[in-house]
Formats: sequence, structure tokens, C-alpha cells
Amino acid sequence: MRRILVVGGGYAGFYTAWGLEKRLRAGEAEIVVVDPRPYMTYQPFLPEVAAGSIEARHAAISLRSHLRRTRLIHGRVTRIDHAGRSVTVLPEDGEEFALGYDTIVVTAGAVTRTFPIPGVVESAIGMKHVEEAVAIRDRLLDAFDRAAELAAGAERARLLTVTFVGGGFSGVEGFAELLSLATALLRSYPELRFSDLSFHLVEARERILPEVTDRPGSWVVRSLTERGARIHLGAQLLSAEGGHVVLSTGEEFDSHTIVWTAGNGANPVVANRTDLPVTARGSLVVRPDLRVGTPDAPVPDAWAAGDDAAVPDLASPVDGALTVPNAQHAVRQGRLLAKNIAADLRGERPRDYVHHSLGVVATLGLGRGIFQWRGLVITGFLAWIMHRGYHVLAVPTWERKVRILLVWASAAVFGRDIVSLVSVQHPRRAFLDGSAPVVASHTESA
Ligand SMILES: Cc1cc2nc3c(=O)[nH]c(=O)nc-3n(C[C@H](O)[C@H](O)[C@H](O)COP(=O)(O)OP(=O)(O)OC[C@H]3O[C@@H](n4cnc5c(N)ncnc54)[C@H](O)[C@@H]3O)c2cc1C
Repeated sequence: MRRILVVGGGYAGFYTAWGLEKRLRAGEAEIVVVDPRPYMTYQPFLPEVAAGSIEARHAAISLRSHLRRTRLIHGRVTRIDHAGRSVTVLPEDGEEFALGYDTIVVTAGAVTRTFPIPGVVESAIGMKHVEEAVAIRDRLLDAFDRAAELAAGAERARLLTVTFVGGGFSGVEGFAELLSLATALLRSYPELRFSDLSFHLVEARERILPEVTDRPGSWVVRSLTERGARIHLGAQLLSAEGGHVVLSTGEEFDSHTIVWTAGNGANPVVANRTDLPVTARGSLVVRPDLRVGTPDAPVPDAWAAGDDAAVPDLASPVDGALTVPNAQHAVRQGRLLAKNIAADLRGERPRDYVHHSLGVVATLGLGRGIFQWRGLVITGFLAWIMHRGYHVLAVPTWERKVRILLVWASAAVFGRDIVSLVSVQHPRRAFLDGSAPVVASHTESA
């Protein structure tokens, strides 16, 4: 039986495997997905996970529950040797091993891009994974608990200072959602005032949200500023050592929470550890039908899509344009990959990928959002409803949709859950703290 190996079970990989399960007849091919995570992350929900509006587990779509006919391998692909039709897999436990295949689908996505800025790796946290969104939320809630016990002063100010670096989609959504949570939290903390909060968004360019045009972009800046945030445009982070933020504008402040969302970088396995053709930026060279290679030189048995692939954008009037790295494309490319691979197996012609953008929709905190489709811009509550409506329809499987709707409904009645579970990062602390007296008294009685 042919083996179809999917590297990465995120958006594009999950939809490819899911589609192949539906299209392939029993015995036609074995589908294998390799991913170090046992779930696909629904990244557009991470800002709401950070704000406590969505349960963390609901943004994680279990591969095992939904890919019933696929063999799942819990590990990371560290090398792709397409000439030898083999990948190297590093499992969570044990030694690296080689895994052969007949057809490969590379959908490993991108990684958070960092720069060698002092203190970033030690002090900052990203916002691409569920655990990061949960940690950001717990950090803010814990900071409120600690700050409430302190008199006004430098330490209290530090605890209540939040800095996001990067004014792209994920940065602005995460920042606005966290601001919304912090503002709402004040109702439960009479010891703290709105003026105690300090929220900074740092962006190197002169504008935020490159996905929308200038005017809606400026509207978002104005709206966040009116809500008490400081937006630093044309500013670069020079240092974050010990949580002390230094900007290229000369401003400096201490920040307990620093979130790094300054862009995506090439996935190392694609950029450096494969014999498949890659662009100068480290993305796979892909044809319009999602086969790896160029129109004149297709690479047999290799396909790719999503954030790790340079897919020609046939819907764009600009010659040579590539599809932007977002979920809208990754999902549709994944679905087409399944159709094209099945067609190819049966000797049929694969189809080209063409998708006209449905527009951009972003959450800016509870009850606030922005939507743009060509010249049409909608802001405020209606855009926020559109954001939630779009994503609850887009999240895969009915089981997830229902769970998320139930959480939203219960939050509408009872409000957000404001308990910090930062202690889950030290689950043995209670056991260790409590063990000495218990052992002593046990010894005494013995
Ligand atoms: C906070 C945030 C909000 C966003 N909001 C939106 C939005 O509202 N709308 C929108 O269109 N887009 C949004 N995006 C972008 C969107 O989520 C991505 O473009 C999309 O996830 C890309 O899909 P992908 O399949 O290429 O990669 P991913 O979904 O990132 O999946 C890649 C998978 O590959 C796995 N992997 C990585 N390396 C290896 C390896 N070496 N071996 C095996 N597996 C590997 C990873 O574990 C992961 O499961 C958002 C992104 C973020 C971070």
C-alpha cells in the first residue's frame, strides 16, 4: 500500500489528512501524520484563550479523535530526504528513526521569529501555542492578585505593565483582548484603579495591522489609545533584560508581562534540512496545484501548503504574488491537497489553487472588532459578532463548535472566569511544601 506522509498536523496538514480519509477507498493508501503535538491548534482563538473567553482545550483539536483512519506519530521531523523517500523522526522518547514514504505532504507551518535582542528569550513569551496563551492569561491574573496587596509604587506599576512587541494580526488581537480582560478585572479588585494599568504595543513600522488598509489601521490605533493603551509606532525593542523594556525612541519602563509577536520565521526543517527546493526566505517552492516544484520542473510525489509554502496567488492581479500566510488559505489549501493527491493517485489531473480573499476580521476585545473586505469596513460590535460567527463556523468539527458556543453562552450570563491557575506550572509545590511536617509527625507517632 502507498504511504502518504503528512509532516505537521496543523491547519493545512489536518485538513489534508481529514480530506484524504474521506476520499481514499480502504486499502488505497496509508495516511501517516507526524507532529510533536497531539492536536491541531486553532490559532485565531488564542487571543480569546489569553483573555479567558475560550477554554484552552477548546482551541486544541485532538488529532486522535478526529483522524480515525490515520496513523499518528508523536514526534518531530528533523530531516526530509526526498531523493531517498525518507524522513528522520525525533520522537518524544527514544532515538531518532527513519520513516519511508511514497508521497510527502509538507505542512509544518512557520515558527515564531525572534531577533538577538538582549532579554527577549529570557523574559518574553510568544503567542502561537495554547500553552503560551494560557500562561499569558495566568500571568496577568496573578499580577492582579499580587499588585492588589501592594501600596502604589514601582513594584505595583511593574506588575500591572503589559508590553506586546509586534503590531501584526496576532499581536493586535492578543493585546486588545488582554486589555479588555484587564479593564474588566478592575471590577473585582477595588484596591486597583484604571490609572494603575499600563499597556504598551510596540511596532517597528509606522502603522499596525498590515492586513487592513491605512484608514482602518489608524482607527484601531485611535480606538486602543482611547481605551488607555500606549501605541509606540516606529519604535523598536532594544532590550528586555530582566523585564526592563528599552525602546529605540528612548522610552524605558519595567514590564512584568512581555509578549513577542513580531512575525513568523521559516520552519528550520524546511529552510535547512531538506533536498526539496526552497525560496531564499526558506519556504517550499510550490506550483499552483500545490505540488512542490515549478511549472516546468515538478518534483514527483511531493506536495506542500500553508505557512511553510510559497504558493502562487492566482487570484491576485499582481504578477508573481504569493498567497499570504493565514488560516483562510491554509484550510482551503489543505482541502485541495486532499483532492489533488487522490486525483493524482488515480491518474487524474490535479486542480490549481485559486481563492479570492473573504476579507479580514479581527477581535479587539469583548464586544469590539474590525472587518474589512475591499473598500467595506465595519467596526465595533457588529464586526466582533462577525468575528465570533466566522470562527465558530470555521473551527473544525461540530463537537468543538458546540463546546465553544456553550462557554460563550455561560460567560454571557456569569461573566469570565477570573481565577489564576499559575500554580499549575508547579504542581508538586504543595506536596513538597507540605511533606516535611507530615514526615516529621509521622516519625514522631511511629
Ligand atoms: C494568535 C494568532 C491568531 C491568528 N488569527 C488568524 C485569523 O484570525 N485568521 C487567519 O486567517 N489566520 C490567523 N492566524 C494565522 C493562522 O493561524 C496560520 O496562518 C495557520 O495556522 C497556518 O497553518 P499551517 O498549517 O501552515 O501551520 P500551523 O497551523 O502552524 O501547523 C503546523 C503544524 O506543524 C507542526 N510542526 C512544526 N514543525 C514540525 C516538524 N519539524 N515535524 C512535524 N511537525 C511539525 C506543528 O506542531 C503544527 O501542528 C493567526 C495566527 C496566530 C498565531
